[in-house]
Amino acid sequence: MKGIKIAITNQKGGVGKTTTAINLAAALAKQGKRVLLADLDPQANSTISFLSADEITMSVYDLLSDPEVSFNDIVKKTKVENLEILPSRINLAKLEARLVGELDAPFRLKDKIDPIANNYDVVILDTPPTLGLITVNALVASTHLIIPIQSSYFALEGTDDLLETIERIKARPNPQLEVLGVVVTLHDRRTTLSRDIYDQICQVFGDKVFETTISKSVRLEESPAYRESIFTFAPASSGAIEYASLCDEVIRRAN
Ligand code: ATP
Ligand code: MG
Repeated sequence: MKGIKIAITNQKGGVGKTTTAINLAAALAKQGKRVLLADLDPQANSTISFLSADEITMSVYDLLSDPEVSFNDIVKKTKVENLEILPSRINLAKLEARLVGELDAPFRLKDKIDPIANNYDVVILDTPPTLGLITVNALVASTHLIIPIQSSYFALEGTDDLLETIERIKARPNPQLEVLGVVVTLHDRRTTLSRDIYDQICQVFGDKVFETTISKSVRLEESPAYRESIFTFAPASSGAIEYASLCDEVIRRAN
């Protein structure tokens, strides 16, 4: 495993992208992998899960909008060993307007990430709930993607648009892009409905669906407020066990 870049993507909001990005990144780091977490969401939820406001000066917006700004100007260490972060700020919301008419707009991230990717074993990219320019930049820059799908009656609504976007990116700028897997989140294993939804998701995505599902857990909701991953915040919780298990599956599939 070296220089693998995994975008965590689904244009639906609130499906567990950020929760998966931060805890998968922390799980990989805990296994001794050198990990970069790139926060590409103007909401900056991944960033504030690891850094305090006064630690964030420049952001990925500066990296993508200003050719003079280099990766090393932006990247920050976190208190988690082996885990560095490319922080986001709300100003990232201006990127699309800023890059109007720039022919290289979809390639800005790839051009900045490619030269440093081999300094890491894995880069995890947290994306915003849109299929706009930022998500396109993430998909162009990535080798793999993980799609979190919330276990709910409307789970599969919108996945057609996502799959179409993936196919378009694969057709031209990034033929290597591969769906590493689909992870079912906010799952309640006890209900028949949840089991039916899991089966439905398997019918669409086949063996891409990870065996590990992520249960609903208050601990997973709480840990970002304490700027901790689930592994230090509640190491015996279901969330810690499940994200460690997802991490094992990711390592197996990515190798
Ligand atoms: P957005 O599209 O806004 O970026 P997202 O897809 O990144 O959202 P998260 O921020 O990870 O989704 O999760 C949405 C909300 O649900 C958050 O408050 C988060 O703490 C909570 N949440 C995510 N996963 C779980 C879980 N397994 N159990 C309980 N709460 C969860
Ligand atoms: Mg998010």
